Amino acid sequence: MSIGIVGLPNVGKSTLFNALTKSANALAANYPFATIEPNVGIVGVPDARLAQLATIHDSARILPAKVEFVDIAGLVKGASEGQGRGNQFLANIRETDAICQVIRVFNDPDVTHVDGDVAPERDIETINTELILADLQTIEKAVPRLQKEARTNKDRKAALDAAETASKILDGGTTLYASGMDLTDLRELHLLTAKPFLYAFNLDADELVDADLRARLSAIVAPAEAVFLDAKIESELVELPDDEALELLQSVGQDESGLSQLARVGFETLGLQTYLTAGPKETRAWTIKKGATAPEAAGVIHTDFQRGFIKAEVISFDDLMEAGSVAAARSAGKARIEGKDYIMRDGDVVEFRFNV
Ligand code: GDP
Repeated sequence: MSIGIVGLPNVGKSTLFNALTKSANALAANYPFATIEPNVGIVGVPDARLAQLATIHDSARILPAKVEFVDIAGLVKGASEGQGRGNQFLANIRETDAICQVIRVFNDPDVTHVDGDVAPERDIETINTELILADLQTIEKAVPRLQKEARTNKDRKAALDAAETASKILDGGTTLYASGMDLTDLRELHLLTAKPFLYAFNLDADELVDADLRARLSAIVAPAEAVFLDAKIESELVELPDDEALELLQSVGQDESGLSQLARVGFETLGLQTYLTAGPKETRAWTIKKGATAPEAAGVIHTDFQRGFIKAEVISFDDLMEAGSVAAARSAGKARIEGKDYIMRDGDVVEFRFNV
């Protein structure tokens, strides 16, 4: 799953993306990635539990979950009508699972703004309008077909009704994600504003600690989540060793990098969660969808694990840390044997038993 990064020109997208790409290259040293496409950035999802778990097993390495961001170039006014590289833009963004809007808040007289001045709320409106117009076109094209289908097949009535409701919401200037409408019957239309949104506000360093400003910006985009960062600082952080990076962060009043926040919030926005495995070779967070069953979780490691799934031995992270070792957790009765209907919980430390 991936998150598309969009934004108007000169808001700091390339600067941020440059940091994301460097992060991907750093991670690639540990992961057997095929090749990383030039327009893809990857960030590890910070999880303090992994380091603790690794000490129990003296693991050789730690592999966090990761989130993939795709640079979607070409969002300009009129993109929905094919302005700029509008059609390519729409095709690329359709393939992503969530949309991250980069919004300029920083002030810099040397960096011109396409619309003259820095105005986050207007920029959000400009981007949303393009996405809304694109969705309205998709719906307009689909409705005659849906009407025809609904005449002969009453099961198709729900899809037609949903499209008509969506059209009214979009006409009113609201994105489908923000509207709270049930999106189930719209899925087949792959509408852009039905994807989950998140916002990366690109601030000046001194604005990062401005709680009032952050609250005001958060309120504009709610219920979507907001991340606050300084893209210039992010591009410096990825070049620094950990201790120096932390020093730089603390000098601007932060304790977590913007990329880490973006990964954490992005992961949540995609509806994902992790479970953990640990051993001498590695301690690792595996990514699953919220609500995944034990065999589905096993399938993330290897499809054979899902096919041959027998059972899972599950210890919750807290129980394991309290016991101090897997053996101690077992004798304390904290190791549960779960079957194929078990729904995975956050913080499950798992060992799968399977037939091959
Ligand atoms: P893009 O067009 O959205 O990809 O924007 P760029 O990343 O190319 O940034 C445009 C200009 O703004 C560049 O000169 C950047 O150095 C500058 N810039 C980007 N982020 C920041 C920031 O957080 N603060 C300041 N002052 N300048 C920034």
